[in-house]
Amino acid sequence: MQILRAEELGMCFGVRDALAAIDAIKEPTKVTIHGELVHNPEVLAQLDRRGFHRSAEHSRPIPATPAVLVTAHGISERERERLRAAGKQILDTTCPLVRKVHEVARALERTGHRVIVIGKHDHVEVRGITEDLRDPIVLGSAADVGTWPESRFGIVCQTTSQEATVVPIVAAVRAANRHASVQFVDTVCSPTRARVAALEDLLPKVDALVVVGGRDSNNTQKLVLTGERYGLPVLHVENASELRPEWFLGCRRLGLTAGTSTLPATIEAVYARLRAIAAAEPRESAPERRAAEPARHPLVG
Ligand code: SF4
Repeated sequence: MQILRAEELGMCFGVRDALAAIDAIKEPTKVTIHGELVHNPEVLAQLDRRGFHRSAEHSRPIPATPAVLVTAHGISERERERLRAAGKQILDTTCPLVRKVHEVARALERTGHRVIVIGKHDHVEVRGITEDLRDPIVLGSAADVGTWPESRFGIVCQTTSQEATVVPIVAAVRAANRHASVQFVDTVCSPTRARVAALEDLLPKVDALVVVGGRDSNNTQKLVLTGERYGLPVLHVENASELRPEWFLGCRRLGLTAGTSTLPATIEAVYARLRAIAAAEPRESAPERRAAEPARHPLVG
């Protein structure tokens, strides 16, 4: 089995910079991480071991610690003010590309548009964007689109959205609101775009795909979906220990990619394990056996 890595995969600069800032914190027990830093259980376990406090993603009481760390996903200005008013020191690791979406959305509102955010309703990034807006609409799919009375709409998207999701939603908004002008600003971030493009380049070259990343990670789920839409068997794992050699019997070329919150060490461990699985294949008899036998494992069907 040959293993082909996507040209661009894994951790983006936004998550990397946030983690570097967190590494430099000297007194973790005095800091509460506001919402989930990354949707990556390994990273979260490391933070817990260092003694950071974590507030739940969906209920946000004022933290007891003197300092609050805002994650790369960002928060609204309203929430920032609430924390400041409570006397909290704010350690801000908001990704600049998330900040840009906030700015674009507010500018659209200032210029008379009702703002539509394409993204996951309950995602922390979407919540941060919408909390500062007057009456935003959040659309997760074209099925959510309605006809609204306003004459001007401005559309932005969650940074980890994919074109395959965004384009039909924008078209549906235009079709259902012909009376209105609709301005679309594509705010998908460049690292997400690069990872999807690299995956699309890889898909025709492989017969199965492994995606590494947190199960709750939005962009990792989108990479899985991209592979499935292409018609490939896709295995989503969080780490190397989940890999089983029998899954790869009959697989000749395996693709490997990873979400933007996946640690480089996790990707390397998965890659090393896949190489070990490939090296353990009985080389001389494998092609004949594959030709003679149907695949009989969950990954390559
Ligand atoms: S996925 Fe994009 S927006 Fe989110 S942290 Fe990474 S670079 Fe920033």
